[in-house]
Amino acid sequence: MKSVAVLPGKPNSAHLADLEEPRLESVPNGRGVLVKVLRVGVDGTDKEINAAEYGAAPPGYNFLVTGHEGFGQALAVGPNVYEVKPGDFVVATVRRPGHSIYDLIGTNDMTTDDVYYERGINLLHGFLTECYVDDADYIVRVPATLKEIGVLLEPFTVVQKGIAQAYEAQRRLRIWRPRRAAVMGAGTIGLLAALALRLRGMQVTVFARQINMGLRSQLLEEIDARYVSTQQTSITDAAKSVGLFDLVFEATGASAVVFESMLAVAKNGVLVLSSVTGGDRMVQVPADRINLEFVLGNKLMVGTVNANREYFESGVRDLALAEAMYPGWLSRLLTHPVNGLDNYKEAFHLLETAKDAIKVYYEVA
Ligand code: BGC
Ligand code: ZN
Repeated sequence: MKSVAVLPGKPNSAHLADLEEPRLESVPNGRGVLVKVLRVGVDGTDKEINAAEYGAAPPGYNFLVTGHEGFGQALAVGPNVYEVKPGDFVVATVRRPGHSIYDLIGTNDMTTDDVYYERGINLLHGFLTECYVDDADYIVRVPATLKEIGVLLEPFTVVQKGIAQAYEAQRRLRIWRPRRAAVMGAGTIGLLAALALRLRGMQVTVFARQINMGLRSQLLEEIDARYVSTQQTSITDAAKSVGLFDLVFEATGASAVVFESMLAVAKNGVLVLSSVTGGDRMVQVPADRINLEFVLGNKLMVGTVNANREYFESGVRDLALAEAMYPGWLSRLLTHPVNGLDNYKEAFHLLETAKDAIKVYYEVA
């Protein structure tokens, strides 16, 4: 089968690789699901894997098939699968269990293992291929009415988990009713976070650098979120005029923004960090002030990565709610389609250069 792969450790090694056909029987206990890949989204993670910043090939291979934002259709299922049937649209989760206690209780997104297994990222092949087989435990059904936007589910799960973790952690307060939220960054994750927070009734301010964001500002306006360009108004100044934020979702990919964000959190508020920053940047920060305000305001900061099945399920519910609330909004995030696996060079090129791209994705079949 034709697949898009990299040679981990070797920068810019993206190529077409030949992967053997997957077998339903490779999954034990008759729990296999054979999925035909329809669409696959790409993001900064794919770019960084192709830059050889991280990523490892599965044992026995010198290449890693990439792609972790899958969307497909079940073709066949093993005898003990009741969750999905052939013809159903599905998305597979990304991380597979390791050995820590968190993996053993089904929360492998919270693993404490040093080595983790993620499809298309680390030690497991991904979805940029024609078909794959996985255990039904990791396959989530997407209603046919959402098939045009199903490829957005995986990035949405990152948001789902971040927000759910904030609420979970805020149970330290006997009562927490967040009213004002800020989202740092207006990339795919930032826009999806703004949406999810609006769906929860919060007043949302999105911060990003650009002054004129075209489609992005329009999209934000349509869901009644406000947009602030940090080139015009600093986060601190904006927080002064709107008020500090009960929940701040950081998704800029720039670690310096984290410290500015810390100053924008309201008393008893929470800052959720979701940017994976591979570099080694140093910044100067007003350390006393940040610390003092965090201490005196009982503030909380929480990191979040990956997402478990429950967040895929809540993601599906929120996709459906978003379609009901803001019909057609989500499909407008799908700005840059790439036709077929053969055009992988174009996909990487768009990831590098298309500044106006919200979501670059492959139309695989
Ligand atoms: C993926 C997550 C993954 C993380 C770290 C992100 O791009 O969406 O599922 O856990 O990268 O590898
Ligand atoms: Zn990703």
